[in-house]
Amino acid sequence: MAYSYEAPVSQSLFDRASVVTPGGVNSPVRAFRAVGGTPRFMVSGTGPYLTDADGREYVDLVCSWGPMILGHSHPEVIAAVQEAVSRGTSFGTPGEGEVALAEEIVARIEPVEQVRLVSSGTEATMSAIRLARGFTGRAKVVKFAGCYHGHVDALLAAAGSGLATFGLPDTPGVTGATAGDTVVLPYNDLDAVRAAFAAHPGEIACVITEASPGNMGVVPPAEGFNAGLKELCAADGALYISDEVMTGFRTSKAGWYGVDGVRPDLMTFGKVMGGGFPAAAFGGRGDVMAHLAPAGPVYQAGTLSGNPVATAAGLAQLRLLDDAAYAKIDAVSAELRSLVGDALTKEGVAHTVSAASNMFSVFFTDRPVRNYDDAKKQDVFRFTAFFHSMLEQGVYLPPSAFESWFVSTAHDERAIERIAAALPAAARAASEATA
Ligand code: PLP
Repeated sequence: MAYSYEAPVSQSLFDRASVVTPGGVNSPVRAFRAVGGTPRFMVSGTGPYLTDADGREYVDLVCSWGPMILGHSHPEVIAAVQEAVSRGTSFGTPGEGEVALAEEIVARIEPVEQVRLVSSGTEATMSAIRLARGFTGRAKVVKFAGCYHGHVDALLAAAGSGLATFGLPDTPGVTGATAGDTVVLPYNDLDAVRAAFAAHPGEIACVITEASPGNMGVVPPAEGFNAGLKELCAADGALYISDEVMTGFRTSKAGWYGVDGVRPDLMTFGKVMGGGFPAAAFGGRGDVMAHLAPAGPVYQAGTLSGNPVATAAGLAQLRLLDDAAYAKIDAVSAELRSLVGDALTKEGVAHTVSAASNMFSVFFTDRPVRNYDDAKKQDVFRFTAFFHSMLEQGVYLPPSAFESWFVSTAHDERAIERIAAALPAAARAASEATA
């Protein structure tokens, strides 16, 4: 596919990057492999806008894959970071900022009695399943196809996000022994979970699920699915782990827990709670968390865990996320969903705008999408055409048909108008696209 617009500075940076970095990027979905073309190298961000190295401005609907819920360069977050940096960048000792961030998380999310800070969502889920295994003395982990929990070896089987984007069933480098204790089931299928517990009685340490999946596109849990998981886990003595790295502090003040109220044994967080810095966490039941070193025997550690700059950014961001902020994000999301849906309908493009609270994505199919197999049946080539038309018109979407779109409190009327103005041509491009 040829693109009518160019990005010469991004192209030359990408050429340089490709020499010294595999594929030219430090995280696969940033490359435009799924959609073709040159990834944009961004140099700055303000509010809902990003500016690339060629000086072009985009309305950002990726928001750093979730963290930038207040938009870019929010003055109060920047001020908190500058204040923290002025006191030093890392001490390798406890500090008040990490206590305050942990208190904020515990105060917001009732099932979290204790929390441990880490540096990435991957670390959070990896540590949570280790803790679940240590606590239960069991080995097996149940996960769902299309759910992504970071690049934890044991959780990379049939994962979403980049693996969905690139159509990878799993990855070389994960040994059979590591993946052998992972049971992968279809999402939204409680019968399959029942059957797994029946096949492995007393062997399953935990069921881990995205609280509401966003890594195969947005596929919300069916009514009663999360509650059913919780019930089946409790009946067997397994732990129910809700991965809220994406939904946490985004889908409501208390994340997806604030939406469905199903009480997990353990939860994982990242993205929003770091304010754009590497901060993540896992937490939950006090009796389970008490098994973590140094209180208990399950080891877990990190040189930069609870980093003072990252915790200052995260705390500043969380403190700004009040009811009014969530009402704003919900309203922006609703408006965009209807604009996108109307534009595609007008051009006769089969589509489903799928939403979970303020997270949403567009599947280019009009068949219902309840799991990963359904998601894969969409017309990805139509998304590709849609994506490039939006990009050309200055709207930055996730470069994959299998990712959530993210909005922020900074997406004001001007930003929405720019998106609205771009949609008719993008919908037309989607309608005219051929496989
Ligand atoms: N869990 C979920 C639900 C995610 O969406 C992600 C990242 O997208 C992760 C875990 C991994 O987080 P990180 O990329 O910070 O390692």
